[in-house]
Amino acid sequence: MSREVFFRLILAVSETDLFMIVFFIGIVIGIASLIFFFISNGKNSENSQMGINLKRVYCPKCGLKQPIIRKPKNERQALYGGNTCKNCGTEMDKYGQKIVE
Ligand SMILES: [Zn+2]
Repeated sequence: MSREVFFRLILAVSETDLFMIVFFIGIVIGIASLIFFFISNGKNSENSQMGINLKRVYCPKCGLKQPIIRKPKNERQALYGGNTCKNCGTEMDKYGQKIVE
């Protein structure tokens, strides 16, 4: 992009438009950094409840592959993720670790 085109673009937008653009960019950056935070948090700490696990999870007892789309069976699963194995009924967190109550 040449400098002339760049300045024409700047002058073409009013102050309100400029505010909206800056506001929009701010939201996009905010959401992007939030997503990055959650993904990196999940990778760094294995047991982080706030993390997101993108890998498939296997049952710690019988080794059954757990479905990606899950139906939460209780409040904790709804909030933090996790599964109850269809095969043996073992409860695990979203990283596939057995939950000991
Ligand atoms: Zn199982």
